[in-house]
Amino acid sequence: MRTIFPFSIRDLEELNGSIDETLSVEERDLSNYKIPYLPGAYSLGIGLTSRCNLNCPFCYYREQGHNAVSTLSISQLREILTGLGQLRLITFSLEGEALLYPWLQDALSLASGHAEILQITTNGQLLDDGMAELLTSTPKLRSLILSIDSADPDTYAAMRRGGKLSTLEKNIRGFQKRNSHIFLELYAVITDRNIHTLHTLPAFAASLGIKLISFGKLREHGWSREHHIYSASDREITDEMLKVIDEAQKEHVQVKLAPYFADKTVVEELRERTDPAYGLFIPPDRNFCDMPWSFTSILSDGRLFPCCGDFSPAEIEECSFDGIFNHPYLLLLRKLIKHRAVPEGCLECRNCSESRV
Ligand code: SF4
Ligand code: SF4
Repeated sequence: MRTIFPFSIRDLEELNGSIDETLSVEERDLSNYKIPYLPGAYSLGIGLTSRCNLNCPFCYYREQGHNAVSTLSISQLREILTGLGQLRLITFSLEGEALLYPWLQDALSLASGHAEILQITTNGQLLDDGMAELLTSTPKLRSLILSIDSADPDTYAAMRRGGKLSTLEKNIRGFQKRNSHIFLELYAVITDRNIHTLHTLPAFAASLGIKLISFGKLREHGWSREHHIYSASDREITDEMLKVIDEAQKEHVQVKLAPYFADKTVVEELRERTDPAYGLFIPPDRNFCDMPWSFTSILSDGRLFPCCGDFSPAEIEECSFDGIFNHPYLLLLRKLIKHRAVPEGCLECRNCSESRV
């Protein structure tokens, strides 16, 4: 479990104090940044458990010396979802391995009653026949994101420590035999350790009937640095991604650059040098990040993790729509982003064009 985060709600409060004198009375008032409850409009990420069957040396949620695990109880999950009403999407992701959650069937059933669609992110090592049966018999589960950082067995084993590429491959084949409605996506984190093998992913995906691979860039943090895993350089990313796109085009696989993909210059070069007929998926160039208006997440210890940045989690006072989606953390983020006071944590996150400088 990770306990050190570089940014906190206090950083946002300080920044908030520094911009208030430039704002009108109405603009200053945090209550003006509330969003209304609209059934089916918002999305929620949930970390069901911080336990994991793997021990990846770049894991965003690991930290040396903090081995405590937490697991959201099914009654906590029920309380949260009842308080939130109807959502658009619930994604079981963040933290540990969702397929390790002891009450996964109940969680899927509860979430099915509170969202239009469900999504799970998994390392896929536990996706055996029984698990495939459970997931493929959940009609609202529409998306399964499989974390895989290389289709080279040795690099995979070094990145996904404790996992085997052959197990993942076997599991996906078994899953696909049953699957009729769940969209499979591979997700790769780009680091200096796996950069030179990324071009092997499109053929791997195609061989398993997977049509989409997303790429995100490592955000370096204590655990990854301890294991000497760093970001790849922009030049390396550009050169390797051009090879990836070339392979993907041949294999009829779509490549998507996640919002946290890379600096603007890399995205621009890839855009310019890719065959327009291929249709590389690049996130829209937004003026600012609108994530806090539509999404938030809760970790397995029941705390709010406001978005996907490096902001430390915070206690939730009340399991209601206002208590979660209008938590002071989110009000502050909305206010600061709206008035272009981009917090330092957002600069790391790179989810908006202003921060991708
Ligand atoms: S599989 Fe995911 S949650 Fe588990 S250790 Fe690896 S990066 Fe962390
Ligand atoms: S840019 Fe900021 S508000 Fe948007 S997702 Fe990243 S950390 Fe959250």
